[in-house]
Amino acid sequence: GSDTKKSDAKVLRIGTNADFAPFEFQDVDGKEYVGFDMDLARAIAKEMGYQADIQNVNFDGLIPALEAGNIDMIISGMTVTEERKQKVAFSKPYYQSGLTFVVRNDNDTIKSFKDLEGKTIAVQIGTTGANKAREIKDATVKEFNSSADTFLELKAGGVDAVVNDRPVNDYFLAQGGTKDAKTFPEILTAEDYGIAISKKNPELAKQIDEALEKLQANGEYDKIFEKWFGK
Ligand code: GLN
Repeated sequence: GSDTKKSDAKVLRIGTNADFAPFEFQDVDGKEYVGFDMDLARAIAKEMGYQADIQNVNFDGLIPALEAGNIDMIISGMTVTEERKQKVAFSKPYYQSGLTFVVRNDNDTIKSFKDLEGKTIAVQIGTTGANKAREIKDATVKEFNSSADTFLELKAGGVDAVVNDRPVNDYFLAQGGTKDAKTFPEILTAEDYGIAISKKNPELAKQIDEALEKLQANGEYDKIFEKWFGK
């Protein structure tokens, strides 16, 4: 049967790819899922009267897991795109993001998106960054399971650049990445993050939007935002 959700359990199964700081990652002991999205998801679940059950899934496995009914919602720095909207429903946008790129400090030739032509670029599988990198003329695109792996590859000299979400690039640099790498202010695309819900579950989508609105109105959203991004 497809009845995976017991009505009396009141558990909200939240899918995320916990390798995308500062939105979702594991704390130093690897014991807890932390980050902006994690705090927001827990606040949403609480607001709705559910217990949050966070499940760590590869980014490209999140939408299939939702479609299969193994999770109830996705929060994972996921950009609202037309392509994804064919498959899933999205909440109202909750964070404005966009793509930037990162190069090694010793690179003096790449200064703009245009300079990425013909270069080797690391991206995370199944992301908007991967799609964008593939549009670059003569670029060789290397795909990795996580953004952490793309930064490691850049540092190791395996690629010329990483194309990834701006806040994640900025956080990586702020956490010590500036030893090896740098970024530029040019935003390649403006993107909105949304929570994905099954199209079969419009009632849940409505509840999530209502909870989100409430948290935005009562200052809870701002508190979580300031915790992770400052004012
Ligand atoms: N925002 C990007 C996307 O939706 C990357 C998300 C991620 O890697 N977690 O494709």
